[in-house]
Amino acid sequence: MNRNRTLRLLLALVSSISFSLTVCRATPPVTNAQSDSASSTSANKAQADVSECAKEPFTYDNGPLGQSHWCGACNLDTSKLQAPININTKAARPDGSLPSINFSGYKATKLVTSENVHTLKVDYKKGESSITIGKEPFTLVEFHFHRPSEEAINNHRAAMVIHLVHANAGATAYVAVSVLVEEGIPAPKTEALVNKLIRYFPPPNGFQNVPEGVDINAADLLPEGSFPENHNYFRYGGSLTTPACGENVTFYVLKTPIRFSAEQLRQFERRYPFPNARNIQNTNGRPIVQTK
Ligand SMILES: [Zn+2]
Repeated sequence: MNRNRTLRLLLALVSSISFSLTVCRATPPVTNAQSDSASSTSANKAQADVSECAKEPFTYDNGPLGQSHWCGACNLDTSKLQAPININTKAARPDGSLPSINFSGYKATKLVTSENVHTLKVDYKKGESSITIGKEPFTLVEFHFHRPSEEAINNHRAAMVIHLVHANAGATAYVAVSVLVEEGIPAPKTEALVNKLIRYFPPPNGFQNVPEGVDINAADLLPEGSFPENHNYFRYGGSLTTPACGENVTFYVLKTPIRFSAEQLRQFERRYPFPNARNIQNTNGRPIVQTK
């Protein structure tokens, strides 16, 4: 088994050199949580398969571990809600009854970053920060970055995107709030937080980095003027964008981007040099709605 894994890693390494893209063992944003039918043996086996899949190394290139070989639900014919997608703003149906997202449950918390070779991931303990959508609460599990953005708006991908990943009470459904990042002059609160993240990028050693006495607030990554509520978003049903690509994620893509400075974007590129955006997936006619 170990030998097998070593072989796969070697293959991945060769592939990364060939395609100039990243290779690694990566931790997905969250583990798949389709556990509501755990009583049957086949469901248990399926769950185990999904967990195993989520541990496998993968790449974003066209090599043997690349996107077309991702396991779990990523490439099944029956998977109709894969993410990311391109959002055609003219085709997204305006809906005046969509609930607002209330971010006032985002609190200052101790910075905990996880090594993930594809990207920076910031972890949260359960209940440290949360949102409500309408009346339903979701707890912030972690946030991480993609470069460029995975979601496209009218076929445009932003410089980066932040995925703030939240779970419902039973951890059976997830809400990803996508904050698009473009190059420009950052808001002071954003500039300060991003500089902190850059300063405490985790070392590439597979461990968490928990710097002493460093607090952050995810609210500093939200567009100006949207706190505590943001009424402007696109919403669609999707999936995790890393293996096992479980289709239990609702995306709320905020319409207003935030800004990182050119130097901050460069720092991210230096630390995580390879693009980590999954290819745009077919919408398969799924409803995409937007706030008015
Ligand atoms: Zn993501």
